[in-house]
Amino acid sequence: MGLIVTPALVVRRADYSDYDRMVTLFSPDIGRIDAIARGCRRPKSPLVNAVEPFTSGEFQLYERRERYTLEQCQISEDYYALRTDYEKLCHGVYWLKLLDAAILPNTPAPALFITTLRALAHLNWGELPPELVTMAFEMHFMALNGFAPRMDACLRCGRPIDGDARFDPAQGGAVCLHCPSNAAKITNGARRILMKLPRTKFDKFQLLDGHPDWPEAARHFRSYVNLKMHMEKFAPALYQ
Ligand SMILES: [Zn+2]
Repeated sequence: MGLIVTPALVVRRADYSDYDRMVTLFSPDIGRIDAIARGCRRPKSPLVNAVEPFTSGEFQLYERRERYTLEQCQISEDYYALRTDYEKLCHGVYWLKLLDAAILPNTPAPALFITTLRALAHLNWGELPPELVTMAFEMHFMALNGFAPRMDACLRCGRPIDGDARFDPAQGGAVCLHCPSNAAKITNGARRILMKLPRTKFDKFQLLDGHPDWPEAARHFRSYVNLKMHMEKFAPALYQ
Protein backbone atom coordinates (compact mmCIF):
# COMPACT_ATOMS: atom_id res chain seq x y z
CA MET A 1 0.00 0.00 0.00
CA GLY A 2 1.15 3.50 -0.75
CA LEU A 3 2.72 5.61 -3.41
CA ILE A 4 4.65 3.98 -6.23
CA VAL A 5 6.83 5.69 -8.80
CA THR A 6 7.90 3.62 -11.79
CA PRO A 7 8.92 4.02 -15.40
CA ALA A 8 6.27 2.51 -17.65
CA LEU A 9 4.78 2.30 -21.13
CA VAL A 10 1.04 2.57 -21.80
CA VAL A 11 -0.02 -0.67 -23.47
CA ARG A 12 -3.77 -0.26 -23.52
CA ARG A 13 -6.57 1.95 -22.37
CA ALA A 14 -10.31 1.54 -22.06
CA ASP A 15 -13.10 3.91 -21.15
CA TYR A 16 -14.39 3.16 -17.70
CA SER A 17 -17.03 5.70 -16.81
CA ASP A 18 -17.94 9.13 -18.09
CA TYR A 19 -14.65 10.74 -17.13
CA ASP A 20 -12.38 7.85 -16.17
CA ARG A 21 -10.27 5.34 -18.02
CA MET A 22 -8.61 2.07 -17.15
CA VAL A 23 -5.05 2.01 -18.37
CA THR A 24 -2.70 -0.94 -18.65
CA LEU A 25 0.92 -0.05 -17.97
CA PHE A 26 4.03 -2.09 -18.57
CA SER A 27 6.55 -1.37 -15.81
CA PRO A 28 10.02 -2.97 -15.89
CA ASP A 29 9.95 -3.32 -12.09
CA ILE A 30 6.37 -4.49 -11.53
CA GLY A 31 5.24 -5.92 -14.84
CA ARG A 32 1.59 -5.37 -15.67
CA ILE A 33 -0.28 -2.63 -13.83
CA ASP A 34 -3.97 -2.06 -14.48
CA ALA A 35 -4.77 1.35 -13.06
CA ILE A 36 -7.71 3.69 -13.01
CA ALA A 37 -7.07 7.21 -14.27
CA ARG A 38 -9.73 9.33 -12.66
CA GLY A 39 -10.97 12.35 -14.53
CA CYS A 40 -8.59 11.81 -17.43
CA ARG A 41 -11.34 12.30 -20.02
CA ARG A 42 -12.01 15.82 -18.85
CA PRO A 43 -10.34 18.12 -21.40
CA LYS A 44 -8.20 19.94 -18.88
CA SER A 45 -7.07 16.88 -16.94
CA PRO A 46 -3.29 16.68 -16.49
CA LEU A 47 -3.63 12.96 -17.25
CA VAL A 48 -5.20 13.43 -20.68
CA ASN A 49 -1.99 12.57 -22.58
CA ALA A 50 -0.66 10.15 -19.99
CA VAL A 51 -3.23 7.51 -20.88
CA GLU A 52 -2.54 7.34 -24.62
CA PRO A 53 -1.09 4.05 -25.88
CA PHE A 54 2.69 4.31 -26.56
CA THR A 55 3.17 7.05 -23.97
CA SER A 56 6.20 6.28 -21.87
CA GLY A 57 7.50 8.07 -18.83
CA GLU A 58 7.62 8.11 -15.09
CA PHE A 59 4.26 7.19 -13.58
CA GLN A 60 3.14 7.93 -10.06
CA LEU A 61 0.48 5.58 -8.76
CA TYR A 62 -1.31 4.99 -5.54
CA GLU A 63 -1.75 1.36 -4.58
CA ARG A 64 -4.26 0.02 -2.13
CA ARG A 65 -5.12 -3.67 -1.87
CA GLU A 66 -3.65 -4.39 -5.30
CA ARG A 67 -5.76 -1.66 -6.88
CA TYR A 68 -3.87 1.12 -8.56
CA THR A 69 -4.87 4.71 -9.18
CA LEU A 70 -2.85 6.81 -11.61
CA GLU A 71 -1.92 10.07 -9.90
CA GLN A 72 0.62 11.75 -12.15
CA CYS A 73 2.84 11.15 -15.16
CA GLN A 74 6.03 12.76 -16.31
CA ILE A 75 5.94 11.92 -20.02
CA SER A 76 9.36 11.22 -21.50
CA GLU A 77 8.24 10.13 -24.98
CA ASP A 78 4.95 9.95 -26.86
CA TYR A 79 6.24 8.43 -30.14
CA TYR A 80 4.28 10.98 -32.09
CA ALA A 81 5.77 10.12 -35.50
CA LEU A 82 4.73 6.51 -35.07
CA ARG A 83 1.21 7.44 -34.09
CA THR A 84 0.70 9.61 -37.15
CA ASP A 85 2.05 7.14 -39.74
CA TYR A 86 -0.57 4.52 -40.52
CA GLU A 87 1.84 1.73 -41.49
CA LYS A 88 4.11 2.27 -38.48
CA LEU A 89 1.07 2.52 -36.23
CA CYS A 90 -0.23 -0.89 -37.40
CA HIS A 91 3.09 -2.45 -36.44
CA GLY A 92 3.25 -0.64 -33.10
CA VAL A 93 -0.32 -1.61 -32.19
CA TYR A 94 0.56 -5.23 -32.92
CA TRP A 95 3.53 -5.03 -30.52
CA LEU A 96 1.30 -3.62 -27.81
CA LYS A 97 -1.08 -6.56 -28.34
CA LEU A 98 1.84 -8.95 -27.89
CA LEU A 99 2.86 -7.18 -24.69
CA ASP A 100 -0.71 -7.11 -23.43
CA ALA A 101 -0.85 -10.89 -23.88
CA ALA A 102 2.48 -11.53 -22.16
CA ILE A 103 3.04 -9.19 -19.21
CA LEU A 104 1.86 -10.31 -15.78
CA PRO A 105 1.21 -8.46 -12.53
CA ASN A 106 4.05 -8.47 -10.00
CA THR A 107 6.39 -9.97 -12.59
CA PRO A 108 9.33 -7.67 -13.36
CA ALA A 109 10.55 -7.79 -16.96
CA PRO A 110 13.35 -5.25 -17.31
CA ALA A 111 14.96 -6.79 -20.41
CA LEU A 112 11.67 -6.91 -22.27
CA PHE A 113 10.97 -3.32 -21.27
CA ILE A 114 14.31 -2.05 -22.59
CA THR A 115 13.94 -4.07 -25.79
CA THR A 116 10.47 -2.62 -26.33
CA LEU A 117 11.69 0.97 -25.95
CA ARG A 118 14.62 0.32 -28.31
CA ALA A 119 12.25 -1.17 -30.88
CA LEU A 120 9.80 1.72 -30.53
CA ALA A 121 12.64 4.20 -31.05
CA HIS A 122 13.59 2.45 -34.31
CA LEU A 123 10.00 2.33 -35.48
CA ASN A 124 9.37 5.97 -34.57
CA TRP A 125 12.53 7.68 -35.81
CA GLY A 126 14.23 5.06 -37.99
CA GLU A 127 14.21 4.60 -41.74
CA LEU A 128 14.30 0.80 -41.77
CA PRO A 129 11.32 -1.17 -43.12
CA PRO A 130 8.75 -1.54 -40.31
CA GLU A 131 8.45 -5.26 -41.23
CA LEU A 132 12.13 -5.70 -40.36
CA VAL A 133 11.78 -3.92 -37.01
CA THR A 134 8.70 -6.01 -36.22
CA MET A 135 10.58 -9.22 -36.99
CA ALA A 136 13.40 -8.19 -34.65
CA PHE A 137 10.92 -7.25 -31.93
CA GLU A 138 9.01 -10.53 -32.33
CA MET A 139 12.17 -12.65 -32.15
CA HIS A 140 13.49 -10.91 -29.03
CA PHE A 141 10.02 -10.82 -27.48
CA MET A 142 9.55 -14.57 -27.90
CA ALA A 143 13.05 -15.39 -26.67
CA LEU A 144 12.62 -13.19 -23.57
CA ASN A 145 9.36 -14.99 -22.84
CA GLY A 146 11.09 -18.36 -23.08
CA PHE A 147 9.74 -19.28 -26.50
CA ALA A 148 12.83 -19.18 -28.71
CA PRO A 149 12.41 -21.90 -31.36
CA ARG A 150 15.16 -24.49 -31.59
CA MET A 151 16.95 -23.92 -34.87
CA ASP A 152 20.38 -25.58 -34.52
CA ALA A 153 19.28 -29.22 -34.37
CA CYS A 154 16.47 -31.39 -35.70
CA LEU A 155 13.43 -31.60 -33.43
CA ARG A 156 12.88 -35.21 -34.46
CA CYS A 157 16.26 -36.92 -34.68
CA GLY A 158 18.35 -34.42 -32.71
CA ARG A 159 21.08 -34.20 -35.31
CA PRO A 160 22.75 -30.81 -35.78
CA ILE A 161 21.45 -28.87 -38.79
CA ASP A 162 23.84 -26.94 -40.99
CA GLY A 163 21.94 -26.06 -44.15
CA ASP A 164 18.42 -25.89 -45.54
CA ALA A 165 15.77 -27.53 -43.38
CA ARG A 166 12.07 -27.32 -42.52
CA PHE A 167 10.47 -25.07 -39.94
CA ASP A 168 7.66 -26.54 -37.89
CA PRO A 169 5.89 -23.66 -36.08
CA ALA A 170 3.58 -25.97 -34.15
CA GLN A 171 6.52 -27.93 -32.71
CA GLY A 172 8.63 -24.82 -32.29
CA GLY A 173 11.75 -25.55 -34.28
CA ALA A 174 13.63 -26.95 -37.23
CA VAL A 175 13.32 -30.42 -38.74
CA CYS A 176 16.13 -31.82 -40.88
CA LEU A 177 15.49 -32.83 -44.49
CA HIS A 178 16.03 -36.53 -43.67
CA CYS A 179 13.16 -36.75 -41.20
CA PRO A 180 9.51 -37.02 -42.31
CA SER A 181 7.64 -33.73 -41.92
CA ASN A 182 4.99 -31.68 -43.72
CA ALA A 183 6.43 -28.41 -42.42
CA ALA A 184 7.45 -25.73 -44.91
CA LYS A 185 11.05 -25.60 -46.08
CA ILE A 186 13.33 -22.92 -44.73
CA THR A 187 16.54 -21.83 -46.41
CA ASN A 188 19.78 -21.95 -44.50
CA GLY A 189 19.98 -18.16 -44.50
CA ALA A 190 16.52 -17.69 -42.97
CA ARG A 191 17.14 -20.49 -40.48
CA ARG A 192 20.32 -18.80 -39.31
CA ILE A 193 18.44 -15.52 -38.77
CA LEU A 194 15.90 -17.31 -36.56
CA MET A 195 18.76 -18.96 -34.69
CA LYS A 196 21.02 -15.95 -34.21
CA LEU A 197 18.99 -12.75 -34.07
CA PRO A 198 17.45 -13.27 -30.60
CA ARG A 199 20.94 -13.95 -29.20
CA THR A 200 22.47 -10.68 -30.34
CA LYS A 201 21.98 -7.18 -28.98
CA PHE A 202 18.70 -5.76 -30.21
CA ASP A 203 20.21 -2.99 -32.35
CA LYS A 204 22.17 -5.53 -34.40
CA PHE A 205 19.06 -6.34 -36.41
CA GLN A 206 19.86 -3.27 -38.52
CA LEU A 207 22.63 -5.28 -40.19
CA LEU A 208 19.91 -7.41 -41.81
CA ASP A 209 18.62 -4.49 -43.90
CA GLY A 210 19.33 -5.60 -47.47
CA HIS A 211 19.93 -9.22 -46.45
CA PRO A 212 18.02 -11.33 -49.00
CA ASP A 213 16.70 -13.85 -46.48
CA TRP A 214 15.06 -11.71 -43.82
CA PRO A 215 11.60 -11.54 -45.49
CA GLU A 216 11.54 -15.34 -45.52
CA ALA A 217 12.69 -15.48 -41.89
CA ALA A 218 9.99 -12.96 -40.95
CA ARG A 219 7.29 -15.01 -42.70
CA HIS A 220 8.27 -18.22 -40.90
CA PHE A 221 8.56 -16.49 -37.56
CA ARG A 222 5.19 -14.78 -37.94
CA SER A 223 3.49 -18.16 -38.37
CA TYR A 224 5.18 -19.28 -35.15
CA VAL A 225 4.13 -16.15 -33.20
CA ASN A 226 0.57 -16.45 -34.47
CA LEU A 227 0.34 -20.04 -33.27
CA LYS A 228 1.92 -19.40 -29.88
CA MET A 229 0.33 -16.07 -29.06
CA HIS A 230 -2.98 -16.34 -30.99
CA MET A 231 -2.28 -13.13 -32.85
CA GLU A 232 -3.86 -13.81 -36.24
CA LYS A 233 -6.33 -10.97 -35.78
CA PHE A 234 -3.71 -8.38 -35.02
CA ALA A 235 -0.61 -9.35 -36.95
CA PRO A 236 0.12 -7.06 -39.87
CA ALA A 237 -0.63 -9.09 -42.99
CA LEU A 238 2.47 -8.09 -44.87
CA TYR A 239 4.12 -11.37 -45.76
CA GLN A 240 1.59 -13.06 -48.04
ZN1 LIG B 1 16.03 -35.12 -38.35
